[in-house]
Amino acid sequence: MSSVIRLLPDHVANQIAAGEVVQRPASVVKELLENAVDAGATSVKLVVKDAGKTLIQVIDNGKGMNEIDARMCFERHATSKISLAEDLFQLQTKGFRGEALASIAAIAHVELKSKEHTAELGTHVIIEGSKIISQEVAVVPDGTSFSVKNLFFNIPARRNFLKSDQVELRHVIDEFERVALAHNNIQFTFIHNGSEMFNLPASNYRQRIVNVFGGKTNEKLVPVQETTEIIEIHGFVAKPEYAKKSRGEQFFFVNDRFIKSGYLHHAVTAAFEGLLKDGTHPSYFLYLTLPANSIDINIHPTKTEIKFDDEQALYAILRATIKHSLGQFNVAPVLDFQKDEGLDVPYSYEGTKSVEPTVEVDAFFNPFESMKASTNLANQIGSNILRGDFNPFESVKTKSNSFSGGSNTSYPEKKHKSGGWETLYEGISDAKEMILTSANHQFDEEVITGSLFDDDSVQATNHQQSYQVQKKYIISPIKSGMIIIDQRRAHQRILYEHYVQSFTVKQNASQQLLFPLSLYYTVYEMELLRGIEQELIQMGFLFDEISNERIIISGIPVSITESEVSIVLEDLLNDLQDSVPSDVSALHDRISKSLAQSLAVKTGTYLTDKEQENIVNSLFGCANPQTSPFGKTTFITMKVEDIDKKFM
Ligand code: ADP
Ligand code: MG
Repeated sequence: MSSVIRLLPDHVANQIAAGEVVQRPASVVKELLENAVDAGATSVKLVVKDAGKTLIQVIDNGKGMNEIDARMCFERHATSKISLAEDLFQLQTKGFRGEALASIAAIAHVELKSKEHTAELGTHVIIEGSKIISQEVAVVPDGTSFSVKNLFFNIPARRNFLKSDQVELRHVIDEFERVALAHNNIQFTFIHNGSEMFNLPASNYRQRIVNVFGGKTNEKLVPVQETTEIIEIHGFVAKPEYAKKSRGEQFFFVNDRFIKSGYLHHAVTAAFEGLLKDGTHPSYFLYLTLPANSIDINIHPTKTEIKFDDEQALYAILRATIKHSLGQFNVAPVLDFQKDEGLDVPYSYEGTKSVEPTVEVDAFFNPFESMKASTNLANQIGSNILRGDFNPFESVKTKSNSFSGGSNTSYPEKKHKSGGWETLYEGISDAKEMILTSANHQFDEEVITGSLFDDDSVQATNHQQSYQVQKKYIISPIKSGMIIIDQRRAHQRILYEHYVQSFTVKQNASQQLLFPLSLYYTVYEMELLRGIEQELIQMGFLFDEISNERIIISGIPVSITESEVSIVLEDLLNDLQDSVPSDVSALHDRISKSLAQSLAVKTGTYLTDKEQENIVNSLFGCANPQTSPFGKTTFITMKVEDIDKKFM
């Protein structure tokens, strides 16, 4: 039998290698930026079109290449950075595998212009799908420029696999930031579709971080510094109060290379233990310097995962260092997230005197007066116990109910009250039946009491429709038993439908702010905000300015308070971070969900009677009251028979 094994042609081998090295436009950005850094550039410019799908260009003023190197660099395993296997453990450069350019050239149209500083003329090379199309002597500036066009032109499956421009741009920005943060001494600019996204002058680390993440970053940073025998750590962590809901700003650099490490990340979060609110993540920018021979970078083609010799020691040092910094900057002790809301006096009560509770007594009360009275009495006592404020004397009003016993229809003016209840249960047939009966029942009591005592206010406070349990559930009695409502989920449903509905209105009302609100965001967040600007305006936001790093808000939707604005927008950006739906109704849905999520009352919030009533009423005014916008059950009903069974 003839032998079947043969060596793959270079262009096929390169394409295979490209599968590992080049996953998306951002991978090309990373490789080209790193090459520019390795070439000793002091100024690097990144130009991108359509999130890199059309063009990625990196122009540097580094050492450049001569004619031969300009051709050689596209060969596989062609590198100037190492020559011996041992060099792998003395790496000072970002690259060393010599496969990035070969891979990129295998799957794109690449143009290279390069000139060494000492040379008179430079070189211009065009290569497409690993094939050199032309190479000429050319008049070009010192340094190197790579243009990569039509990425994956010859691998349609990969091209189709690319995400929306917005998602790909996010990845490109991520890679740009990683390189820019690692090399503060190099000036970087980044232009996307003709507009400048970043312009970062050479500066110290702190300034670089601030330039990348926007104006307000400076006040968030706490410096970190430690030198030991095995590692030197410097950088910053953000104060715990600035912890984000997204994991966005977390950076480890090892010997100037961005790396990912779940283990070291854990060390940082461990240092923050007890200082962060649930669901928030600390931001950090940590630069670790280790002896080159104590790490192995060659364990992953993209070189973002590395192996450390003594990981456990690093963990301990890192954790202790950050703990120390947080403590030293007095961040730790002043924070107290366990604050009991109950101890806060609401603003409107500040300075007012407390009023002693009074008790009304009916001297003529006779508990044995009638059967109905005693039933009502029992009901009333039962519900007051549930409320935790049982007052036996209240029964006087309940008792009096029994005397008038008039029919509902004779009090039409009160009907609107029960009308609210009727609409509560639209769409739920058996619940509707229950509540209608319950409404009549309530109607009965209410009107009669009113007619006897002529005192609506007393009657209203005593007549409670619902009770809050564990600051979590609202319990409301109905004819056939009771309903138990999850306050947070119910409120989410109400808000969600409100916002979805508000998008059908051309322009929602907005409340003018006395003092416009300035909020600062990262370049990417600003990009996202611009993408949903129309929706925000439609909701009632008014913007005075949307620049590269901040927005100035002069008006907000009436349904949002000023203090909620920054939280709502942060949550919204967080929810849209991975993708902004291109379909308008999907976008409206996403925004409404996000707002419902951030604005809904939290579990653990005390609700006044009025608030409970509002939730109950509004929930059953919703088109789909049964579930929250996230598909969770909002309420359950418990029939008397079920309760009876428990007592058997
Ligand atoms: P590696 O970076 O692993 O060496 P690459 O394929 O990225 O492999 O690059 C191959 C070689 O091309 C590099 O070793 C370097 O000598 C040269 N090169 C690449 N980019 C530049 C640049 N911007 N300026 C100067 N030389 C470059
Ligand atoms: Mg390289």
